[in-house]
Amino acid sequence: MSAIPFGVIGVGHLGAIHARIASGLPELKLIGVFDLDLSRSQKIAKACNTKAFTSLSQLLRQVQAVSLVVPTEHHYQVGTKALKHGAHLFVEKPITSCSDQATDLIHRAEQSGRVLQVGHIERFNPAFQSLSGYSLSPLFIESHRLSRFNPRGLDVSVVLDLMIHDIDIIHSLIPSPLDSIQACGVGVVSTSEDIANARLEFANGAVANLTASRISAKDMRKMRLFQSKAYLAIDFLDQKSEILHLDQAPIPQDIAATCIGNIGVGEQSQSIYLQTPPAIPTNALEQELTSFAQSIVHNTQPVVTGRDGLRALQTAEIILKEMSRRQELSAKKAGL
Ligand code: NAD
Repeated sequence: MSAIPFGVIGVGHLGAIHARIASGLPELKLIGVFDLDLSRSQKIAKACNTKAFTSLSQLLRQVQAVSLVVPTEHHYQVGTKALKHGAHLFVEKPITSCSDQATDLIHRAEQSGRVLQVGHIERFNPAFQSLSGYSLSPLFIESHRLSRFNPRGLDVSVVLDLMIHDIDIIHSLIPSPLDSIQACGVGVVSTSEDIANARLEFANGAVANLTASRISAKDMRKMRLFQSKAYLAIDFLDQKSEILHLDQAPIPQDIAATCIGNIGVGEQSQSIYLQTPPAIPTNALEQELTSFAQSIVHNTQPVVTGRDGLRALQTAEIILKEMSRRQELSAKKAGL
């Protein structure tokens, strides 16, 4: 396939990584970068051996696809402009600041026949992908995404900053509508929530309990899945997974299994098998951009669609609303 003329809009912390990776991918031809901060775009352009554009329109006239890596509050306005120029759009997560904007962006992409992919990068994490051969139907999920304090990203709640990664993964695992959400959160060092917990209940009976913190002593990104006959653990940080499966034989059969015990007697006896699916170490952002390029070339739906991004954002919005309802209630009780 011939390389797609490509641009990166916004080359701050994450955009610089998009530009570096795009410059090395055979599927993409990095035409240039654009950032409101010209000295920043010049620095990144030099490092990536590409051009620093001084006008967004000029860049958009020369590319067929872009990565949009500006602060979330500008995703909608800049994304709309990119689509108007006919560019396929990779937009970082969260898709937009609010679901109305996301819905409009999705319609614009659909009407213009452009690919819209959202940067929910954990879908490309080797640990998550290592479970693709296993039939997942979780009834209970526990997730912990804990991060050490970093002054970056404090302008938004930890729900939009970190928890939204797990919200997207959970929606991809539980194909059932949401029944109810309970949530609480506390701002410890910032004016928005730095630590949050949400309990999502789904119409099929499944429950997910999510905790996200950006004021933790150490980093952790773990998800534990419980379903009939199996317990699965995904470590997104160490990029490995584990399956504990109860049956007469290990499933899937092609992954080496160790029998670690038995339950029951006679014909009812079942063995407990421990399996560690091989997770091929890969750069998830590289996989994400390669997959985006393939969707453009083959005119196929991206792995993470605009509607996936919208669904995660809508759930995050309900969580935020529920948290502020509880905070108001607590303040009222305290007579504040
Ligand atoms: P950043 O502040 O480091 O960089 C943003 C850059 O955009 C800056 O250089 C700024 O000058 C530029 N900019 C601002 N408005 C612009 C505009 N209208 N046009 C062009 N350039 C503009 O931010 P960041 O940490 O790189 O985050 C960018 C986006 O990536 C956010 O939406 C964030 O949520 C997302 N993000 C995703 C992940 C992930 O895990 N997928 C991780 C970090 C950040």
